[in-house]
Amino acid sequence: MEEIAFECQRCGQCCEGKGGIVVTLEEQEKIAAFLELSLEEFQHSCIHKVQDKAHLKVKNNFCLFFAPKKGCLIHPVKPKVCAAWPYFRGNLVDESAFSLAKEYCPGINPQISFAEFKKIGLYYLQKNNLICQEKDGPTALKVADLLNNEG
Ligand code: SF4
Ligand code: SF4
Repeated sequence: MEEIAFECQRCGQCCEGKGGIVVTLEEQEKIAAFLELSLEEFQHSCIHKVQDKAHLKVKNNFCLFFAPKKGCLIHPVKPKVCAAWPYFRGNLVDESAFSLAKEYCPGINPQISFAEFKKIGLYYLQKNNLICQEKDGPTALKVADLLNNEG
């Protein structure tokens, strides 16, 4: 069902930019183990703090873990926020944000309606355990309140 709304085209656009990839402590531990680093080593080389949240560092205007032609180097343990795109809170509650996301991301079906996108998105986030409650988690995934409004 999810493919009706979205299928990643692996263009890499969403790994580009000035950062903003929030990683919880639990995610940091998983990534560090995957990279065979201690948590401290991982944090020292891959994390920078923005206010009270940890973000992945950026290199050459791309996420540190993006490799041209290969994609995400930590794909099996990538942060929830990466696995959840394009089903971010803003895109689920604000139709104009959803329209902008459609223009930005070629993986979103241009024919999908806002209502269908929201329904499928909440289903996907729930099914894949991507809804975030943690204080140090990304605001984009704090959507538990939206589930109550879905019939
Ligand atoms: S912008 Fe969309 S299609 Fe491109 S890599 Fe990101 S999720 Fe996939
Ligand atoms: S962790 Fe992987 S999927 Fe997420 S922004 Fe970095 S390269 Fe892209």
